[in-house]
Amino acid sequence: MTIENNHVVAVSYILHIIEEDGSKVLVEETTAENPLTFLYGVGMMIPKFEQNILGLKAGDKAAFTIQPEEAYGERQPDALAQLPIDMFKEAGTPPVGAILPLSDNQGNNFQAIVVEVTDEAVVADLNHPMAGKVLDFQVEVLNTRPATAEELAHGHAHGIDGTDAH
Ligand SMILES: [Zn+2]
Repeated sequence: MTIENNHVVAVSYILHIIEEDGSKVLVEETTAENPLTFLYGVGMMIPKFEQNILGLKAGDKAAFTIQPEEAYGERQPDALAQLPIDMFKEAGTPPVGAILPLSDNQGNNFQAIVVEVTDEAVVADLNHPMAGKVLDFQVEVLNTRPATAEELAHGHAHGIDGTDAH
């Protein structure tokens, strides 16, 4: 059985980012015991990631890189938000480097990094942490199977074997 749309795919992978000087930095490593499981072809994953594993079967490996414009986009130097300091009265003012969980007006959650704190505002960098980065993946396919009707209705995978319903 090979990976195609509406399959539930389980992979282990190692993700590095490639810095401008060519050096690789390890970002994330999953294992066979704790794989990434996802519904293929519904937009959960970076499209280029899915394209690179299309047609593979369990046991197959793939190594590929994805350029920023096909991953999390280029960094926008002016994507900064001035958050009024009053917003942090109760929680306390976050330090520079803190990660803020925010949501946009469509209800999407994202994270922003505090880059400056002034008397009036907390300045947060709204760029995705992986923006501007070349992604380097080493992937091993652990399993692929047709999604269940319930998984298709929910739009997500219920674990490697479909029994982890939620
Ligand atoms: Zn579900």
